[in-house]
Amino acid sequence: MKIPECDECGRPSVIHRRYEGTHLCKTHFLEDIEKKVRKHARVHGLVRHGDRILVAVSGGKDSLAQLVLLDRTRKKHGKIDLEALIIDEGIKGYREHGVEAARRACERLGVKLHVESFRDWFGATLDEMVARRRDPTVGACTFCGVFRRYIMNKKARELGMNKVAVGHNLDDEAQAILVNHIKGDLERGARLGPATPEPDNPLFVQRIKILRPIPERETALYALLCGIEPDMSECPYARESIRDRVRDFINQLEEEHPGTVFSIVRTFDRLLPILRREFLGKGRVWKCPECGEPTAVRGQPCKACQLKKLF
Ligand code: SF4
Repeated sequence: MKIPECDECGRPSVIHRRYEGTHLCKTHFLEDIEKKVRKHARVHGLVRHGDRILVAVSGGKDSLAQLVLLDRTRKKHGKIDLEALIIDEGIKGYREHGVEAARRACERLGVKLHVESFRDWFGATLDEMVARRRDPTVGACTFCGVFRRYIMNKKARELGMNKVAVGHNLDDEAQAILVNHIKGDLERGARLGPATPEPDNPLFVQRIKILRPIPERETALYALLCGIEPDMSECPYARESIRDRVRDFINQLEEEHPGTVFSIVRTFDRLLPILRREFLGKGRVWKCPECGEPTAVRGQPCKACQLKKLF
């Protein structure tokens, strides 16, 4: 079978983008991704001279593609410090591969890697938390998400970093939008977007998403074409979450109606300023009485301290 030609130069293509009806070769695909990410970062002010960015990596394709893109930005524009953080949640047979993939990528790029674990921070692995949990309605992903954000924020502060880069791609964002919608959690929805709102409290470190305009299959292709060997295994808890069903639903819609994922995110972006005014405009941050980290409700423990009591 003849490989379709690149629309730009006529060489064999490596991707067919059904949502825009184009074919691109390796060179033009890589160029296009880098151009889109640069534009997205510029428009939303995600990366600036003098930034000290802690890149959250998992060893998977998205986070390592993000690391390569930020490294290229740093080499091109300078004046950006990068360090990487991987969190070992303690998921047997899964996370070990991710840590290895992250080590290889960081060594190759010359980026310092910090490894932190749930066991060291919270006294138990995620597998142990799940096995011992007192409330079966609290899923593995709830422990995982809350504790990971807690470590990322605190570690970034300790290292003097002013931003944390998370490897969320376009598909991740579309899934998060629909999950929050289904759960009726508009306040959490207000925290989505290219970056968390600029912190007006020194306890918070801003989180940025440079891959937000890039579909998942393209972040994977980008990482592979850059010679990165990501860990492709799937977390054993992934199938338990509502998000997994939302992912299947969106993928099916995208298959039948190319461009659906872009449409979900674009439409949400028009609502985001309204959500932020409504839910975050007057939001104050208090100190958790137990650990001193940020908490949303005055006098109440933060989410991490609440979860620590459940296992
Ligand atoms: Fe954590 Fe859930 Fe993701 Fe697994 S699927 S890494 S438990 S958030």
